[in-house]
Amino acid sequence: MPTAPDPSSVELAQRLNASADLFEVVSSTPLGASLHEVVLHGNPAIGGVAGNDVMLRVLDAKGRYVRRRYSVRDVDEPRGQLTLWIVTSHEGAGSAWATSATPGDQIDVVGPRGKILLDRDAQWHLFVGDATALASFYRMAQGIELPGRAIFIVEVDNMDDALTASFGDELGVTGIFVERNGRSYDDPEGLLRGLAAFELPNGVGHGYLFGEFHVMRAMQVALADRGMSEDQLSHKAYWRADRHNADHGEPEKDL
Ligand SMILES: Cc1cc2nc3c(=O)[nH]c(=O)nc-3n(C[C@H](O)[C@H](O)[C@H](O)COP(=O)(O)OP(=O)(O)OC[C@H]3O[C@@H](n4cnc5c(N)ncnc54)[C@H](O)[C@@H]3O)c2cc1C
Repeated sequence: MPTAPDPSSVELAQRLNASADLFEVVSSTPLGASLHEVVLHGNPAIGGVAGNDVMLRVLDAKGRYVRRRYSVRDVDEPRGQLTLWIVTSHEGAGSAWATSATPGDQIDVVGPRGKILLDRDAQWHLFVGDATALASFYRMAQGIELPGRAIFIVEVDNMDDALTASFGDELGVTGIFVERNGRSYDDPEGLLRGLAAFELPNGVGHGYLFGEFHVMRAMQVALADRGMSEDQLSHKAYWRADRHNADHGEPEKDL
């Protein structure tokens, strides 16, 4: 059994100004029809701060190692544990790994990654995306300075993926879960309807848009149409319908 991460992970971490560690799987538990919670034990500093994600080195169906990125739902420093929420409803290297992970399995983790953090000047925070974004949305919202306001508009394949979280009493929370109802993954209709049902609060807000490539582009346009400026919007495509993410873990950005 290896006792250190693969040299490729160490080199990648150096290049990214991050850290690499060999983590051990503590548990992998289904949370809903499409989501697994995976708890890993290792260097908790790799989990960074709210908004950060980590890169896992997993084997694809052809036996090649690829990296997959997952937001950190929670860091338990005293126990040295990271919690991830991983969508497992499709066939992919990351999803297969999360479904079959068993306690004691080892995995290379590189992190912290990600540049989108909470906008501390915003009076309200609007989180729009799909189940892949729930981990980052909830960790970020739990970091909002109180009193504050968080709005979640999230599309899910099954209502039992509409996971909730607990927040401080002084956080005003609005949650809108939209059921996909068989619409294709690149169809923005569901989230557009969720957005249309909601009047943006007064004051200066910030929008965080994480999810499928085409849908997040449509959300950007929709929120710009609703008067949000470019610097009020942070967006990141997490995956892309009908395409594998690239080997470095991000979706391809060509049109
Ligand atoms: C910064 C960042 C943070 C992320 N955080 C999370 C997170 O916390 N939780 C999480 O679950 N994902 C997260 N993702 C998305 C995740 O990395 C992708 O979904 C990735 O494609 C999964 O890899 P895979 O090997 O399972 O599937 P791939 O090999 O990439 O894709 C295989 C097939 O499955 C499809 N597919 C991929 N993802 C989905 C999906 N979610 N729903 C339906 N079909 C899909 C693809 O279109 C393709 O056809 C994040 C991505 C980034 C860039």
